[in-house]
Amino acid sequence: MDCIICKNGTTLAGIDTLTFEMKGHLIIIRDVPGEVCENCGHFYIDSEAAIEVQKKTKRAVAEGAEVEILKYA
Ligand SMILES: [Zn+2]
Repeated sequence: MDCIICKNGTTLAGIDTLTFEMKGHLIIIRDVPGEVCENCGHFYIDSEAAIEVQKKTKRAVAEGAEVEILKYA
């Protein structure tokens, strides 16, 4: 797809590390699948991955981890 950020690149399948801050918890999730703009590097998360990442983040917060580093897969 075309990148909506730089409007100058196309995206390729890739992975990225995402960081979330929620209620004072810091959750880092590695190897999240999505698409990366070949021009500006902006990461677009897959819609399925977005749901999974949300679940993982909520679970980690519920478990009370102050800082949690997870792998997506
Ligand atoms: Zn771009």
